[in-house]
Amino acid sequence: MDTILDQKTGARSGPARLDIVIPVYNEEAALNHLFERLEQTFSPQAMAENGLERVRLIFVDDGGTDSSAMLIARRIQQGADAMLLCLSRNFGHQSAVCAGLAHSDADITAVIDADLQDPPELIQDMVKLWRNGNDVVYGMRRRRRENPLKVFAYWAFYRLLRFLSGSDVPLDSGDFCLLDAEVVRAMNALPEKLRFPRGLRYWVGFRQTGIQYDRPRRMHGTSKYPFKKLYSLATDGIASLSIKPLKISQMLSISTAAAAILLIAILLIINVKNMPSGIDAGIMLILLCILITSAAQLLSIYILGAYVGRTYLEVKNRPTYIIRETISKEELNPQGGQSPQS
Ligand code: UDP
Ligand code: MG
Repeated sequence: MDTILDQKTGARSGPARLDIVIPVYNEEAALNHLFERLEQTFSPQAMAENGLERVRLIFVDDGGTDSSAMLIARRIQQGADAMLLCLSRNFGHQSAVCAGLAHSDADITAVIDADLQDPPELIQDMVKLWRNGNDVVYGMRRRRRENPLKVFAYWAFYRLLRFLSGSDVPLDSGDFCLLDAEVVRAMNALPEKLRFPRGLRYWVGFRQTGIQYDRPRRMHGTSKYPFKKLYSLATDGIASLSIKPLKISQMLSISTAAAAILLIAILLIINVKNMPSGIDAGIMLILLCILITSAAQLLSIYILGAYVGRTYLEVKNRPTYIIRETISKEELNPQGGQSPQS
């Protein structure tokens, strides 16, 4: 790489190559607009101003069933500086992002959603922050224009994640980011198969900073994240970053055991004293005791199950994704150009 790092200030100068990873799942309605916005953002003049010598798009078609892959392949055929990885089925957003990162070899790599909820224009500001010496620049959602229930679910998730992981994992930041090549290498080298990229990104460290933005509504198509998928994203995220829930379940078992012992003691005292209302109070206490302990046990089993299940999946050591086909500009047009334009 030609980028020069100033050892004192951490600032970077010189030309840089940028890869943009874009997971795509049935986004045919959004793609033309996406290409348009990327072309405007990375016009030859804008690229030159930011010292970008090449901008390559890495699309990952996550087992989609619409014409997204065809549309992208056509753009590549027309000369767009892009690569298309077609996964063999729908492996999920997180796996698609990881597939893209694994194929990036540029000086810097950005990750954005295909639906334009992550404004591509912001990548240019992220590049400036990278030039100032930051290795990771992540987008922080100041406001989300979305279904209020989803906004609340995300709000609660990030706070729960931070509490449970006992770390400073950034709040309200999704996969939208810019990563230095060193960070991408470090993330790709992590061995786990159940991958939560924004957790891995936090975990690898380096110099990280956030950039705030208002997240617009999805302009085309519908969200590919129903609540069921959001729930598994949240539990995968928590389990991949922290084992604190296991500790909480241990604490819960100890405290409910103590509460049960206390209740039994009260029950014994009431019976010994043979109070007139003794039987009723005794039954109530027994029921309470059973309820509390079984609720705690079930919760502990649930938490334990969440980790045992994931350990089982990791032990199987299956790949995070399978690529069915790769289409790249180099293969289609061996002599091609240098900008993401078609
Ligand atoms: N996506 C994907 N695989 C999936 C679901 C989503 O690659 O199984 C992609 C999707 O095409 C989009 C990004 O991941 O580019 C984020 O998805 P979406 O916009 O539906 O999520 P939301 O913004 O509603 O949380
Ligand atoms: Mg979206």
